[in-house]
Amino acid sequence: MPKYEAVIGLETHIQLNTKSKIFCGCKADSWGDPPNTNICPVCTGLPGVLPVLNRVVVEKAVLLAAAMHADSIQSLSYFARKNYFYPDLPKGYQISQYDEPLARDGTFNLPMPDGSSRQVKITKLHIEEDAGKTVYQSGSRLIDFNRCGVPLVEMVTDPDLRSADEAAQYLIRLRQLLRWLGISEGDMEKGQLRCDANVSIRPAGSEVLNTKTEIKNVNSIENVRTAIQVEIERQIREVEAGGIIESWTLNWDDDSGTLRKMRVKETEADYRYFREPDLLPIRLGEAWRDDILANLPELPLERRVRFVDQYGLPLYDAEILTEERSLSEYFEQAVSTYSGEPKVVSNWLMNDVLRMIRELGVKAGELRLQPAHLVEIIHLVEGKRITTNTGKALLDRVEESGRSPAEIVEEEGLAQVSDEDTLRALVSETLEKNPEQVATYQAGKTTVIGWFVGQVMRETRGKANPQVVQAILEELLSDR
Ligand code: ZN
Ligand code: MN
Repeated sequence: MPKYEAVIGLETHIQLNTKSKIFCGCKADSWGDPPNTNICPVCTGLPGVLPVLNRVVVEKAVLLAAAMHADSIQSLSYFARKNYFYPDLPKGYQISQYDEPLARDGTFNLPMPDGSSRQVKITKLHIEEDAGKTVYQSGSRLIDFNRCGVPLVEMVTDPDLRSADEAAQYLIRLRQLLRWLGISEGDMEKGQLRCDANVSIRPAGSEVLNTKTEIKNVNSIENVRTAIQVEIERQIREVEAGGIIESWTLNWDDDSGTLRKMRVKETEADYRYFREPDLLPIRLGEAWRDDILANLPELPLERRVRFVDQYGLPLYDAEILTEERSLSEYFEQAVSTYSGEPKVVSNWLMNDVLRMIRELGVKAGELRLQPAHLVEIIHLVEGKRITTNTGKALLDRVEESGRSPAEIVEEEGLAQVSDEDTLRALVSETLEKNPEQVATYQAGKTTVIGWFVGQVMRETRGKANPQVVQAILEELLSDR
């Protein structure tokens, strides 16, 4: 049996998080709002209205294009009408871009979990308006126009991906980048990131492009992975059985987890594209472009590499710390005031602060526990002023109260008890109270010493220095 490889291209639609829509002043994000409440004559396409371009849409799209290393962000790009008739498209056309899009020829570098990487070419990137939404409800079709005129970026890749896993990885990295740039939340469940996948197969190593099918309407990254995998396997079965692959459009059915054949796809000619007469072209002058690009931050993958080089972090740590921009900034702020190894800060962040972030459902930058607080706690632990356990508990206390760690330690008497005399008295007392365990120890089962440490720690509510307790225990037990 010949081996096959998949050839996959992705077309994504990204909802930009602007305040208002692309051509009118209506609120753009209607999530949770009642139907048809964020609409006006412009976005519902009533006769006689004129669209006015939202400048911020262009700025956010240019930022994304630059992050894709798009060499050719066009200084002049045009809007076009894409004509089709559908109940949720009130104008009968969508304002999009066609022959002169905002940007072409970008590259997106995908590191794969196995250490390899894949370069994906971005064929083109353009801006357009969203259509409305058709809701099927007890036998009738209802139309919600809230989504009409919501700004989208459409981004199309070359057929450069070779497996369902690579496609999923592309979406994971794209979502990370969108959040990093602050231009979209990229939440697929909310439709802020939508993905259509073109899938074909060929004998491994071949260069031909065979007939592809298009998978639509997949609403999570996991489902994109599954749907592509299912389709690759179907095509292989079909070819193996001597059949041919037809150019179908397949709809992902979330309830059954299967692909269903849909309408035959329109061809480009069916859309009868022409230049949009109501809008001027987008002129991206050098000054404006430079202004926008001044806001382009260091990108996640670059920062990941720098964290390894500059702070000597393992790649694993660098990967987690750069998953989200505000966490990476939190780390750098903490490290800048910490005198020890950056890896120590990384450990505290990855083990304890991340848990807190996930429990609270916030970003690192939204914590009341400031980077300086974290470093203060680490210093208190390292200076043996408090135990590690107290330090960990302090993280939550600072987060709840917003007070400084030193203040809480002072007021609540949390300082570690390292004083030998105090601990010696406590240890003696514990030994007196537990003759059975002492006998067990003397019978040779020395591991019971851990149990004694636990007793003393409990007596001191975790404030005893466990190393000192252990040493005293060993001494007093062997004296007996
Ligand atoms: Zn409107
Ligand atoms: Mn589109």
